[in-house]
Amino acid sequence: MPLFHRMKHAARTQLWMKVLIGLLLGCLTGLLLGPAFDYLIPTALNTAITSVHETWAFAPEHLSVQIGHWLALPGYIFLAVLQMVVIPLIFSSVVRGIADSKNPAMVKKVGLRVLAYFVVTTCIAIGIGLTLVSIIQPGDYMDKMAVKEAVTSGSKYVPPLVNAHVDNLPKEITTILPRNIIKTMAEGDMLKIVIFAGFFGLALLGMPRSTSRPLIDLSISLQEACMVVVGWVLRLAPMAVFGLIAEVTAQVGAGALLGMAAYMGTVILGLLCILAFYMCMVRAVGRKVGEFFRTIREAQLVAFSTSSSAATMPVTMRIAQEKLGLRPSIPQLVIPLGTTVNMDGTAVYQTIAAVFLAQVTGIDISMSGYLLIILTALGASIGAPGMPGVGVVILSTILHGIGVDAGYIALIIGVDRILDMCRTTINVTGDLVASTVMDKLLGRNLQEELSDVLDEVVAEVKEVVSPNKS
Ligand code: ASP
Repeated sequence: MPLFHRMKHAARTQLWMKVLIGLLLGCLTGLLLGPAFDYLIPTALNTAITSVHETWAFAPEHLSVQIGHWLALPGYIFLAVLQMVVIPLIFSSVVRGIADSKNPAMVKKVGLRVLAYFVVTTCIAIGIGLTLVSIIQPGDYMDKMAVKEAVTSGSKYVPPLVNAHVDNLPKEITTILPRNIIKTMAEGDMLKIVIFAGFFGLALLGMPRSTSRPLIDLSISLQEACMVVVGWVLRLAPMAVFGLIAEVTAQVGAGALLGMAAYMGTVILGLLCILAFYMCMVRAVGRKVGEFFRTIREAQLVAFSTSSSAATMPVTMRIAQEKLGLRPSIPQLVIPLGTTVNMDGTAVYQTIAAVFLAQVTGIDISMSGYLLIILTALGASIGAPGMPGVGVVILSTILHGIGVDAGYIALIIGVDRILDMCRTTINVTGDLVASTVMDKLLGRNLQEELSDVLDEVVAEVKEVVSPNKS
């Protein structure tokens, strides 16, 4: 089939293609609505295009912001529904993943290996970030005096206070445990929900099957129901992506992007290095790299447009369970855990941003400063929730630790949304790669092979007996 026809066919039948079209059209609409338009047009063309711009950009600035908000309405609905199912989905997936596995040794093996895997990959990400920012030195491309003046005279970024009472560390450590699960769920604290569900699942695993069965069945039903809701809301994805991207593009000026090109380029290069690392991992476990990335692109596009790995989690889970051909118990454990604990993209970004701002302010980072960057980036990757803009909040803690005025975050905040979109895509990709690697690493025993074969035979028999129902 010629390329054009293939694309036309894909645009009609494939969700990822519709999402991609939504993304491109959203960028275009945002550019027409926003300040970026002026900067993108070469001066020679300016006069001719200004009249077109005037026709299109009929909106004064505040009106174009309002239009952006209205365009984003399907996106807000899409996000709200995904967020609505995230908590029950995390809880039911983890409980089901543990309790339904019928094999305590396997759960222990998955849990320990996946945690070790997350720590190692995050350290690699931090290493990549530190290496790139030291070689490229993006801070040297900035006019330091002008930056200082702009930051001190302009509206100052006031970082949210992150309280760390290290004087009673043993007590602080226990705050990771959810004392009041209703409050935890209401606050949407994902790490604590994963911990609670882990306890619950392990308890069910240790009980006689006759007693644990009702709750396991409930988790199975709850998880399946969440996945059905995700299937519904995904139909809205192309419209949602269109609106969300149009809104962001309309607000970010291209001038801001150009001024920060060296810094943005370094972060994006870091993210690409991690992507290359993921490709090697996928290849190493015997998968075809192109095919793998084609399968997961829906989740990547949703992550890119929402900037939230937590909101994308239901889509990530759907792809891991239904399209990657993994044993269901692996993504049921790895995806909820990875969404909170595995953020390689955020780790790279925080490392590069911290050192970049130190370079801009002319502060030499000591050895202990580097150690602090590594530990905080690792801790943030583990503990921070997968929400838009979270990385920049944690960054203020790192800056405080290395002696850089957190007000300098004002310098990078204008371009943060774009970088957030890119690092969230990497975070979500990392979770899917982790599930695939774990599926391979943990091997399959004979019983699982047989049960899979049996499932396939049953499915085929059902297909032959009642072909219309499937
Ligand atoms: N938005 C990112 C995520 O959801 C977190 C961050 O701000 O880096 O994965």
